[in-house]
Amino acid sequence: MNGGSGEKGSGHPAQPGRRRFLGDLARTACGVGVLGLGLGLHASRANALPAAAIRPPGALPEAEFLAACTRCGLCVRGCPYDVLKLAGLLDEAPAGTPYFVARTEPCVMCEDIPCVPVCPTGALDHALTDIHEARMGLAVVVDHEACIAFQGLRCEVCFNICPVRGKAITLDLQHNARSGKHALFIPVVHSADCTGCGLCEKACILEEAAIKVLPMRLAKGELGHHYRLGWEQKAEHGGSLVTPDQQHRYNLPEGVRYEHGGRGLIIDEGAESPYSDNPLDTLNRGLEPDR
Ligand code: SF4
Ligand code: SF4
Ligand code: SF4
Repeated sequence: MNGGSGEKGSGHPAQPGRRRFLGDLARTACGVGVLGLGLGLHASRANALPAAAIRPPGALPEAEFLAACTRCGLCVRGCPYDVLKLAGLLDEAPAGTPYFVARTEPCVMCEDIPCVPVCPTGALDHALTDIHEARMGLAVVVDHEACIAFQGLRCEVCFNICPVRGKAITLDLQHNARSGKHALFIPVVHSADCTGCGLCEKACILEEAAIKVLPMRLAKGELGHHYRLGWEQKAEHGGSLVTPDQQHRYNLPEGVRYEHGGRGLIIDEGAESPYSDNPLDTLNRGLEPDR
């Protein structure tokens, strides 16, 4: 008889010390696994700034910012309006880094930008001395269906609150096709002047703002670096670099010419068309036996 506590069929007495050791080992392995999973999740989250989290004025591009920011919190202390927060361990933003959420607490665009010069590492670029040059993010009208201006109702709250009104955000007057009269006053944001302060998002009268400030990487697309706009190159160099501006010659039938201005193939007025009304006649031309 094994006394009920020994290993089945081993014929040896129970080994409580060994069993406790194996149990401890299993528990430790589980603990390390859960910790590793937690750290892994945190590490993957640590590089992903949530869309609603906007960096302070002058912040370097995200990867450089994360490398330079020592998480000292001096910028947060330097902000007199308590706009900036430091991300906590459970926040989605990398822990200890400063951010703000436009919908609840936008940046008021202080003239002297006190949050920037106190940054000891240059994670917030000290070269930024004019708040109008800040690009914290970019306002985007994300929902044309919810924005009441698109329905023909007068709102203009985002336009009126904007500190760079008339430049960062303008109203585009369009015909109201639904009513057949009146105008639509459509808000349009211009990236060249929008600072990303978020005052427009906070002021939006909707339950969920139709205009939101997004980090640049989400708000903007990026043209392929190899891509060139021909008309810009032409203006820059005073002439086309690719195809010389010269008269092209085509072997066209009499009375037909080609216009590069956009009209394409033109059959001169008054001239008899060399083409038949039936496209098959044109295709068969040259295949018919000589008569
Ligand atoms: S500019 Fe002013 S309000 Fe905006 S984050 Fe800096 S200190 Fe705060
Ligand atoms: S002051 Fe500079 S280094 Fe310190 S938390 Fe702010 S951005 Fe990071
Ligand atoms: S975020 Fe909004 S309020 Fe601020 S500058 Fe841009 S359009 Fe104006």
